[in-house]
Amino acid sequence: MTNRHGLLLASAALLLTPAFAEPVVKKEIRVENGKNVEYMWIDGIKVHETDPEKQPQPEVVTPPAYDPAAAKPPEGATVLFDGTQASMEKNWESVKKDAKPWNLVDGAMESVKRAGYIRTKDEFGSCRLYLEFATPSTVKGEGQGRGNSGVFLMGRYEVQILDSYENTTYPDGQCGAIYGRAVPKVNASRPPGEWQSYDITFHRPIFDDEGNVTRRARFTVIHNGVKIHDDVELWGGTGWRGPHSISEYEAHGDTGPISLQDHGNPVRFRNIWIQPIED
Ligand code: MG
Repeated sequence: MTNRHGLLLASAALLLTPAFAEPVVKKEIRVENGKNVEYMWIDGIKVHETDPEKQPQPEVVTPPAYDPAAAKPPEGATVLFDGTQASMEKNWESVKKDAKPWNLVDGAMESVKRAGYIRTKDEFGSCRLYLEFATPSTVKGEGQGRGNSGVFLMGRYEVQILDSYENTTYPDGQCGAIYGRAVPKVNASRPPGEWQSYDITFHRPIFDDEGNVTRRARFTVIHNGVKIHDDVELWGGTGWRGPHSISEYEAHGDTGPISLQDHGNPVRFRNIWIQPIED
């Protein structure tokens, strides 16, 4: 039975429970080896926390078998890479001036150490992006040093690419993480050298004239057929700002390129297509 008192309590509870609770961010500057180092905690968890007691590792799952049908661009999609030199040259350019180009190996674009990032010549805002990647079959390095690359929406919001198959790192930087901001629900990685897929639905952030974010970016990510982010809202940027700190939003335009990272490990890409979606 509802009385007036009960209704008042219910309305008060609604007012106190926003749809998306704003995270509590704490920052601290520590002096280490004579240098100021910024530390950030989001809802009490340090950025790039490695202690599994404080930030558990996502459960490891075996993804379904590779699905060649998922790689087929739907009607209206723009193919950004079809395995040919012509498509690589038509759609992609180096971010650095006078950089070495990435390699074309067996129909895949492969990052080249010190060649720097590549990006699309065209720019996009809210979109669905599909791509496939393979980390090196010869396992070298560990943690962030093994099969590291990344795909950046609007040239700035990174979905991490890493060899996270039996390779532990901080959960907010493992394969499938929205770097420094969102841990994947599960670890659906395939072994090194095998083709893996990302099917990303991205809603761009919107800024007002003063540069404040008025609508935050959102990501849904399907990794190897497994949903690892479900409409996750980004409360800031994904740029590395120190070992335990991550960038804030900085106002930018309505579109930006898709970029792929050279992090010193030869990571391959193929079957890349994109489809603009409604904001
Ligand atoms: Mg990366």
